[in-house]
Amino acid sequence: MKSTAPDQHTIPSWQQSTADHLWMPYCQQKTAPRPLPVVATEGMHLILDDGRRLIDGLASWWTACHGYNHPAIAAGVTEQLQQMPHVMFGGIQHPPAAKLATRLAALLPGDLNRVFLCDSGSVAIEVAMKMAVQSYLNRNQSGRLRFISFRNAYHGDTTGAMSLCDPVTSMHAHFKGFLLEQYPAPLPRTRQEIADFNRFVKERRDDLAGIVIEPLIQGAGGMRFHDPETLVALRNCCDDNDLLLIADEIATGFGRTGTMFACEQADIVPDIICVGKALTGGTMGMAATIATDRLYQHFHSDQPQHALMHGPTFMANPLACTAANASLDLFETEPRLQQAQALQKVLEEGLAPCRRLGSVVDVRTRGAVGVVQVKELDRVPQMIAAAVQEGIWVRPFKDMVYVTPALNMPHAVAEELCGALVKVLDAWDQDKLPIS
Ligand SMILES: *Cc1c(COP(=O)(O)O)cnc(C)c1O
Repeated sequence: MKSTAPDQHTIPSWQQSTADHLWMPYCQQKTAPRPLPVVATEGMHLILDDGRRLIDGLASWWTACHGYNHPAIAAGVTEQLQQMPHVMFGGIQHPPAAKLATRLAALLPGDLNRVFLCDSGSVAIEVAMKMAVQSYLNRNQSGRLRFISFRNAYHGDTTGAMSLCDPVTSMHAHFKGFLLEQYPAPLPRTRQEIADFNRFVKERRDDLAGIVIEPLIQGAGGMRFHDPETLVALRNCCDDNDLLLIADEIATGFGRTGTMFACEQADIVPDIICVGKALTGGTMGMAATIATDRLYQHFHSDQPQHALMHGPTFMANPLACTAANASLDLFETEPRLQQAQALQKVLEEGLAPCRRLGSVVDVRTRGAVGVVQVKELDRVPQMIAAAVQEGIWVRPFKDMVYVTPALNMPHAVAEELCGALVKVLDAWDQDKLPIS
């Protein structure tokens, strides 16, 4: 029997269909407010069904790095759509994938030259884990099956990736027992912590395949920042213990921290790097796992069983590769990295007034990321409703409200975004929501 929502006559039927049939992400659908009805996107804005325009503070989960509907990406994808929307990748190659792999290899530091294209960030992590473990199996080292990952880490929602997330504070914590057991560790920052960490790793090295880290910014696990020195320490630790360093740059890649990849700021080369999110400029789903030539050598042999047995049906989708190539063109032709760097100052100044609020414990920025951390986040639906009323889209979670705007957001728009957020947080802090 169909359930009858009390307000079914006041909302359009397509939205009733969402309520009746769509299983929405990361929410208790019984109590969550109705999702925002978005019918179009344009530049920095989401456009609602009633015509209202909201500044997107999140660039659709870090993806739309050039803003929405960039004409150069649209033109490339439209042409590719006529020519060849998709073809299987097993036993077949095509120009958009070849071009993309060459460009990623050229952009990435060191000899990260072996590109495996897949369909989502979580799958890129699964592939990285599989590559790491198999690289030891192919060398007849069979016990090296586990990984070190960090408190507040987030690496995705598939089961392998879930096992790398913070085992206590992550949303996947109640799956303990179902998941692979890894070695979670505090992220080492000080000299003493680095020494302790090195000891921790050394004691377990015979069980370990690698260390997995989100460089410079831990994202969905809590938007915590760390310094390049930590990455240097992890690289040294991996070298000392013959371990693989896996950099999850799914969120930080493509300019978000002010350099093309966050690892560049530490001048380190991981053994495997995962990219996703902004890879296609926010146009469609695609991710990649890229290994060094050195790692690839462990798979390149006369033994069939040394091969990597992985191949998502839609891997290297030509439309997604074309979107990614067009996005990389924009990084070449427009000053995207400088824009990301310049946004940091705008966000820093724009969010600074939040420091005065009693319930705010920290305001921090890095590249085109701004975070307002609070003592305790509550009244989230009211906060989101007030933000929408003020013309912006944000999605607070855990203990913070954050913005990750398009890297080319005009400064006036970024100021408007921050101004509205400050107004909302001020009212929230004083328990004066909704804003009248
Ligand atoms: C989003 C994200 C993932 C997962 O990517 P999906 O495309 O959502 O599967 C993994 N790691 C990090 C750091 C992310 O931000």
